[in-house]
Amino acid sequence: MNGMARDDLAGRTAVVTGGSSGIGRACATALAEAGARVLIGDLDELPENTDRFGELGIATQRCDVRHESEVAGLLDRAAEETGQLDILVNNAGIGMVKPISDVSEEDWDNCLDINLKGAFFGCKHAVRHMSGRGGAIVNMASNAGLLPRVSDPVYSISKGALVALTKALALCHAADRIRINAICPGPVGDTRMMEAGLAEFSDREAAEQMFIAASPLANALGRMIDPTEVAAAALYLVSDGAAMVTGTMIAIDGGKALGVPPRDS
Ligand code: NAD
Repeated sequence: MNGMARDDLAGRTAVVTGGSSGIGRACATALAEAGARVLIGDLDELPENTDRFGELGIATQRCDVRHESEVAGLLDRAAEETGQLDILVNNAGIGMVKPISDVSEEDWDNCLDINLKGAFFGCKHAVRHMSGRGGAIVNMASNAGLLPRVSDPVYSISKGALVALTKALALCHAADRIRINAICPGPVGDTRMMEAGLAEFSDREAAEQMFIAASPLANALGRMIDPTEVAAAALYLVSDGAAMVTGTMIAIDGGKALGVPPRDS
């Protein structure tokens, strides 16, 4: 239950993009467990979610965050069905592990359109519904948005820009009582993004250990970060306890952003 009482978000309406798997699914589940009415927008609707989402009353809609009309339609549906929109988690994202010499214009557009423009569309249309009554937006950035990485420069650019978007819009919409924050996770296991990354290596086990070793706490605990540990930060950021928190980044990365490598590496 992530430390929140069951009804702390009762009466609130929440939308989560990219909520069919990994971190987004953990956020949607945690929000619903805390009492919110949740609508997920994702490219994929996975059959494995049907039972759990049914129990929690989580609704789903196919949505490609690259298209403004689809994001606007998702948020309009949530607001029309419940009369309000209180929470948005802009979580949909993809990785892009390539040197820039291998990044095509199409690759660039796809990465920036999903990771950055999709969150822009989310903020733009959430503000339309939240103005006058307030609300909370969480953008799922990345450790790569705080410290660019040599392995995935375009992904790092997209997440660095998402951090900038978060700060700029937090400033613009504080007067509307809309709080906008970001989470910078990594490395998070049990996600399709991480599984796809590990599948690129011939020795999956060694690759997993490499990701773990790059994060001081993950290294100390001998495991990756769990999606529920990222969802706990999202729950805090949308809660009334964070009423004075806006424009911040919470790193759920086991200390990776400190830039201090584990002693034995
Ligand atoms: P994931 O692949 O399990 O989840 C991403 C979800 O986004 C999927 O359900 C996917 O279908 C959806 N999606 C992709 N493109 C979309 C589009 N155009 N429109 C709508 N939905 C779309 O991976 P995850 O790790 O849970 O990723 C969630 C977020 O967390 C991403 O923004 C990612 O960049 C970020 N993140 C992940 C890690 C990690 O280590 N896994 C670390 C830092 C940040």
